[in-house]
Amino acid sequence: MQFRDLKTQYLKYKREIDSAIEEVLSGARFIGGKEVDELEKKLAEYVGVKHCISCANGTEAMTLVAMAWGIKEGDAVFVPDFTFFATGEIVSFRGATPVFVDVEWETFNIDPVKLEQTIQETLAEGRLTPRAIIPVDLFGLPANYREIEKIAKEYNLLVLEDGAQGFGGRINGKKACSFGNAATTSFFPAKPLGCYGDGGAIFTNDDHLAELIESLKVHGKGSNKYDNVRIGVNSRLDNIQAAILNVKLEAFVNHELEDVNRIYHLYNERLGDIVETPVIPDRYYSSFAQYTIKLKSRAERDGLKAKLGEEGIPSMIYYVKPMHRQDAFADLKYDDRSFPVTNRLCDTVLSLPMHPYLSEKDVEQVCSVIREYLG
Ligand SMILES: *Cc1c(COP(=O)(O)O)cnc(C)c1O
Repeated sequence: MQFRDLKTQYLKYKREIDSAIEEVLSGARFIGGKEVDELEKKLAEYVGVKHCISCANGTEAMTLVAMAWGIKEGDAVFVPDFTFFATGEIVSFRGATPVFVDVEWETFNIDPVKLEQTIQETLAEGRLTPRAIIPVDLFGLPANYREIEKIAKEYNLLVLEDGAQGFGGRINGKKACSFGNAATTSFFPAKPLGCYGDGGAIFTNDDHLAELIESLKVHGKGSNKYDNVRIGVNSRLDNIQAAILNVKLEAFVNHELEDVNRIYHLYNERLGDIVETPVIPDRYYSSFAQYTIKLKSRAERDGLKAKLGEEGIPSMIYYVKPMHRQDAFADLKYDDRSFPVTNRLCDTVLSLPMHPYLSEKDVEQVCSVIREYLG
C-alpha cells in the first residue's frame, strides 16, 4: 500500500501525460511557452482570481510575495506554529521575524483568537512592526479566513494564504488560493495537485502586485530580461511541468477531489467511534492533502504507527516538531507555554494513507489494524 500513490495515477493518465511531454520535447521550447500560459490561465479561472503566476516551487512563491511587499528586518509576520518549516522560513529569509501563533485543536489551523492576542502583545512590546499574516490551509482545509480577514483589516495587516496543501479546498464555494491579498500553492509531487518535479504558483487580484512579481521572478526584468530594473531572482516553472499539470488538473477537477472526499467519509465511518477523526466545519470543503487522526498520547500514537508498519501500512507524522522548537529559530526565544495545542498535536497526530486511488479494500485493511490495536 502507498501513502500517496503517484504511480497508479501516472499509469491511468500515461497516454495523455506522455503525449503532453513529447509535445514539449519535439517543440524544443522548455522555458516559457504555450503550456505555461495555458496552465496559468486555467488555474486563475479555476481558483477565480485575476492573476496566476507560476514559479519554481511553493517556498519561492511565498518569498516572491514577501519581496514584492517589501517584508524586511523589524517586521513581524504571524505564522501558525503547526505547519511545514517553509511558512516561517521565508519570513526569516527576508530578515523579518516570524511570530508563531498556536492553532485550533479541531481544524489544525491558526487560531483567530490567539492570533489577535499575539498581534496585541507584539504591538504592546513595540519592538517589531506587524506587517502580515500567513494562514496555512493545513492538510487541505482552508483556514478561518472570515475571522482572519476581519483581524487583518482591524490591524492593517496583509494576508498571504499559504495554500501549498490547500489547492482544491473551499469555503462556501469560494476556492482556496483566492483568500487574502495574495495566495500561493506548491506543485511538489505529493501535494493535492502535483507535478513531476518542483513547481509553484502565486494567485492574486492585485494588478500591481502581479506585475511586480512577474518582474521579480525573472531577474527584476523591465521591458525584457536584459533590461533589469530591480533585484530579483530566477524562479520559473518549466514547460514540461506545465504540460504535466495541464493533464493532471483535469483529473483533479473531474474526479480526484471527489475521490479523496469519498475516502475521508469511508475512514470517518470506520474510525469515528474509536479515534478523533478529521472535522470539516460546516460549509468548508477539504482537498485532503492528508487524512490525520489524533491519538490519546504519544505512546499510543507511536505504538500504532509501529503496528501499521508491521502490517505494511505506511503512515506519517505531520508534524513531529512545532515551529517554535526548531533549532533554526532558537535565537528568537519563544515561550513553549504559548503553544499548548501545537505541542499536544505534535505528540498525538498520525496521517494515514490518503490519495484518490486508494481502494475501499485498503481503507478496510488500515481501519481493521487500527481497530484491533486500539480495541
Ligand atoms: C510543501 C509546503 C510548502 C513549500 O512548498 P515547496 O514547493 O516544497 O517549496 C510551503 N508551505 C506548506 C504548508 C507546505 O506544505
